[in-house]
Order: sequence, then structure tokens, then C-alpha cells
Amino acid sequence: RRAGGTTWARYHAEHTPAQQAREALENDLRLALGRPDEMHLHYQPIINFRTGQVVCMESLARWQHPRLGMVSPERFIPIAEESSLIVALGHRLLDTALAQWQSWRQAGLPVAPVSVNLSGRQLCKPDLADDVAALLHRHQMPPAMLQLEITETALAQAGTAPISRTLDALKALGVSIALDDFGCGYANLQQLYRFRPEQIKIDRSFISKIGLDPHSEVIVAALLSLSQNFGVGVVAEGVETLEQANWLWRHGCDVLQGFLFSRPLPATEMAAYLRDLPQS
Ligand code: C2E
Ligand code: CA
Ligand code: CA
Ligand code: CA
Repeated sequence: RRAGGTTWARYHAEHTPAQQAREALENDLRLALGRPDEMHLHYQPIINFRTGQVVCMESLARWQHPRLGMVSPERFIPIAEESSLIVALGHRLLDTALAQWQSWRQAGLPVAPVSVNLSGRQLCKPDLADDVAALLHRHQMPPAMLQLEITETALAQAGTAPISRTLDALKALGVSIALDDFGCGYANLQQLYRFRPEQIKIDRSFISKIGLDPHSEVIVAALLSLSQNFGVGVVAEGVETLEQANWLWRHGCDVLQGFLFSRPLPATEMAAYLRDLPQS
């Protein structure tokens, strides 16, 4: 029949193999939520280049898929965001990070604060700050030991009252906020001024061009002086070479994160890393 044929044709056109793969991945993701061996966190140390101390550990989601192997968060986080699974996933990862921090502390390791990436969708949840408070309480974690990373793009939507209220509630709890991927998004200076994140993280796309592209160097230098004037801390992301680290150091940025120091590590390796640090 003509009508049926059209519907079928449309169905077929709308379900390309790529879309089918995506739907399958979304279903698998729902299952992975309840499987700590599949969905877990790695931790990347953020270093004070001057003292060598670990100032923070960024938690990064890892999905060990039973058939596909390691699936990148660049692939599954967007799927989780579009399907709303991100709210449950984000909560689960926050719980995991805090539980891990507590167990390191109980093991007597010299723990640094841990940072957890938040999606814009989580920020839209009106009771996010209550969830965070409950998890801090459950894991007996001082709020100052938690940093939440919010992308500049998510903050740009913070003009909306509910997100702005959530951010204020999080700050009132005493957790710190880092503005992630800074330089790429659309947050304006007023938003930066209004929310006063404790830290901004300059995106790797700028850092990777230090020594190669004078334009990027001008941008990084401008971002550094901007944050110094705002009294906001800075982290340089994706530092891979000593040349980049030295350039940043000369320009007054000494908190660095990147493969030069360490890749994101499984929890057991992160514990060994902390254990082997020179005691200050
Ligand atoms: P991001 O938050 O900007 O995280 C930094 C990314 O840069 C990580 O990639 C990290 O492995 C990578 N990286 C760190 N140092 C270097 C370096 O020196 N060189 C290079 N080439 N890369 C470096 P990853 O783990 O693949 O995560 C990608 C993105 O996925 C994250 O970017 C973040 O936007 C998102 N993501 C990861 N975990 C989570 C999570 O738990 N929740 C949410 N909402 N998003 C997450
Ligand atoms: Ca981040
Ligand atoms: Ca980032
Ligand atoms: Ca990024």
C-alpha cells in the first residue's frame, strides 16, 4: 500500500546502520550503569609544577564494553546526554568518585581533592545540590575536597534562573567549581564574574599549539591574565611537552594536567601514584 510503503520507507531512511548502532549502544549503556566492572572511573593527577604536589585528581569515565572493548567517553557521554541517561550515570559516577576518595583516605593515602565532570543536563536538575550534599554526607567527605567541572558551554546556559540557583546552592555547600574547556565555549565575562568559579581550565586545543602557533599563545596569555585579574585559579589542560610546561610556567601558570605528568590511571594505579609521592 502506498501509505504503508511511505511509512516503511521513512522508517528505513531514519534508521541508518549508524543510528541502529547508536540505539544498541544506548541500550547497552543502560545495562552498564549497574555494572561497576564495565562503567568505572580513571583518575588523572593535576600537578603543581613548582612543588610537584598533586593538587587534584580528575575523575574520567571509562566504559569497558563486553563486546566492543573500551568505548570513549567522547562517544558515550553524548549518547547519555541525548537519552537523559546522563542523570543516572552522572549520579552513579559521582557516588563512585566519592566512595573511592573515602577508601583512599581510610587507607591513609595523602589524598588530594577529586574533581568530577558534570553535564549540563545534571545542572538542570533542581535538586542536584541536595544530591551532592547527601553523597558528601554518606562518604564523610569534606565539601572542600570536591570540585565539580562544568563546561563553559553549560555555564553559558546559566542565564536561566534554575541553573543559576543550582550553582549558587553548590557554592553554598562549599564545593568548588571549575570552568572546563575554557576558551572554546560561549560564556561571557559577566557570567564569569557572576559565578566566580574557583578555577578555570584552559582547553587543550590552545595548550597543544604553544610553541607552534603565535595566535594560540596570545590567547593563552590573555586567558591567564584575565583569570589572574579575576582572582580565579587556572589549570592548563593537555600539557604534553616540557616546552609547553616551561612556557606556561614563565607566564605564571603552574597548575598543569596532561600526559607529560600522567595519563588518567585506573584507581589502583592512582593509589600507587599517591603512595610514591615525596612526602612534603
Ligand atoms: P575533559 O573533561 O576535557 O577531560 C580531559 C580529556 O583530555 C580526557 O579525555 C583526558 O584523558 C584527556 N587528556 C588529558 N591530558 C591529555 C594530554 O596531555 N593529551 C591529550 N591528547 N589528551 C589528554 P577523556 O577521558 O577521553 O574524556 C573526554 C571527555 O569526555 C571529557 O573531556 C569530558 O568532556 C567527557 N567526560 C569524561 N568523563 C566524564 C564524566 O564522568 N562525566 C561527564 N559528564 N563527562 C565526562
Ligand atoms: Ca573535565
Ligand atoms: Ca577539559
Ligand atoms: Ca574537553
